[in-house]
Amino acid sequence: MENTQKTGKVIKVSGPLITASGMAEVHMYDVVRVGEKRLIGEIIELRGDVASIQVYEDTAGIGSGAPVYLTGMPLSAELGPGMIESMFDGIERPLEALYRLFGDRINRGASVPSLNREKIWDFVAAAKAGDKVTGGDVIGTVQETEAVLHKIMVPPDLKGTITEIRSGQFTVTDTVATLKTEDGEEKPLTMIQYWPVRRGRPCKEKLSPTEPMVTGQRNIDTLFPIARGGVAAVPGPFGSGKTVVQHQIAKWADADIVIYIGCGERGNEMTDVMNEFPEITDPKTGLSLMKRTVLIANTSDMPVAAREASIYTGITIAEYFRDMGYKVAIIADSTSRWAEALREMSGRLEEMPGEEGYPAYLSSRLAEFYERAGYVKCLGSDDRSGAVTAIGAVSPPGGDTSEPVSQATLRIVKVFWGLSSELAYKRHFPAIDWLKSYSLYEPKMREYYMNNISPVWPTLVARTKAMLQEEADLNEIVQLVGIDSLGAGDRLTLTAAQMIREDYLQQDALDQTDSYTTPRKMFLMLKVIHGWYDAGKNALAVGVPFEQIEKMPVCERIARMKYTDEAEREETFASIADDCDAQFTKLMEEAVADE
Ligand code: ADP
Ligand code: MG
Repeated sequence: MENTQKTGKVIKVSGPLITASGMAEVHMYDVVRVGEKRLIGEIIELRGDVASIQVYEDTAGIGSGAPVYLTGMPLSAELGPGMIESMFDGIERPLEALYRLFGDRINRGASVPSLNREKIWDFVAAAKAGDKVTGGDVIGTVQETEAVLHKIMVPPDLKGTITEIRSGQFTVTDTVATLKTEDGEEKPLTMIQYWPVRRGRPCKEKLSPTEPMVTGQRNIDTLFPIARGGVAAVPGPFGSGKTVVQHQIAKWADADIVIYIGCGERGNEMTDVMNEFPEITDPKTGLSLMKRTVLIANTSDMPVAAREASIYTGITIAEYFRDMGYKVAIIADSTSRWAEALREMSGRLEEMPGEEGYPAYLSSRLAEFYERAGYVKCLGSDDRSGAVTAIGAVSPPGGDTSEPVSQATLRIVKVFWGLSSELAYKRHFPAIDWLKSYSLYEPKMREYYMNNISPVWPTLVARTKAMLQEEADLNEIVQLVGIDSLGAGDRLTLTAAQMIREDYLQQDALDQTDSYTTPRKMFLMLKVIHGWYDAGKNALAVGVPFEQIEKMPVCERIARMKYTDEAEREETFASIADDCDAQFTKLMEEAVADE
């Protein structure tokens, strides 16, 4: 498919940026192959017949005069069965196959198809000859993994009549159906589609997100929930837990497919994912998490320019699974490393720098990525909907979110999980700062919560937030005049807020039980704390001393309630509530008797 006849010539090499002449026939974002090694690059600037090429591989050894082979094609993702459970590099080369072929050092210019060409898939036709089909229609299915039924769709820009189709054993390049277009052209359809990664895949309609994507993380699901099809950012300084938050979401989020992009971060973090995910079972399907996961690794030791490609490749794969009607979560760690790559390329292009040397188009680039998330009506004649939920880490130097990448991201995303180094230092994890973070989706999802968790859920959440705010206000007073200046009511509020923080919001990612909490258990946990707080107020009112309330034995049980097995939650929480009632009744009876 590559047209390697036409060539240009390298005139200058500046790290990952190569300038070449004789390029009058190329288009922006076309892929070219540079030098005899045929390094993979993409046109990012055109002036007359001189093109600037961002090269996705190490350019050492390329000198002026080296040939540049034109392909006439934009950088595209290869989409089809075989992506799940794979780890790709930024330009969608399968790392396992590359290691197998070339060992530890990936051979530059290596051309390995994204999808395995030998593997035989069991294609089950869903359409029949004579069917009129349009872009997005499902013509068949392949059981890609135990967890994912891969739907083979008519590519978005095609329509016509199926003239031939059959079920059977095929490789991805075999023809599974033939489509006759309206101009009478016969088009063979395989299980592969190509899509230019910089262009969003079309949908029928974008819908407004009204349901949460449950993550099993109490802080997130309770205080700052993300909608299915929504966009969130996790900014935080080094070591504050960005990667752990993202791994937790990749592990536990209620998504059919997870695309995890390791962008410019340490390679061992991707190795952790590779080692851990196969061992963890999805609470919904009981199957290994890898059975629904695609990994894209462009770690810190890989070429900088490919960071951008990794982000676009990832979102394109996400959209493709969305188009099948799936709920996809895409996680990018970290978007700051991509922005740094943009800054480096922009510097080499000698563009007019914007703030802190980032290019002026930084915000529009970030927006283009996040805007491809959403809850959509899929293309095709049936009534499918799908969603891409996007979560990006931001790593502001020193944790100062006034820097350009954080600021640009905040203008786009609707959920902000701000990680605080203070909380991380105190080992309060996840270190999501409840006073700084927010979710703009919350009001739209109220109805869902009332119908699916409890009619009182929004009230409990609002009271929880109010308690944390009240704690912050009281702490200011305490700092000024000391704890003894507070009345019993305020002391009770502080203790209840402490319960919220320590017994509810703190969640240990490494503990088998605590790592994931269902919304039902979250509701039961919150109800226990608020029940204790309300009863405490009543007890104070009839003269029970605060010191006795604080020392109640049930407080111990509340502190341990997060470790309750989901299977035993109903009995356990009913029994905690009973204990709470009984102990308060006793204290109140004693107080009344003492009078
Ligand atoms: P960042 O990506 O922001 O640099 P990490 O996600 O690597 O930070 O987190 C740093 C360390 O903090 C982790 O190695 C882990 O020890 C601890 N940590 C973060 N979040 C949690 C959590 N939810 N539970 C337990 N430990 C955590
Ligand atoms: Mg990290």
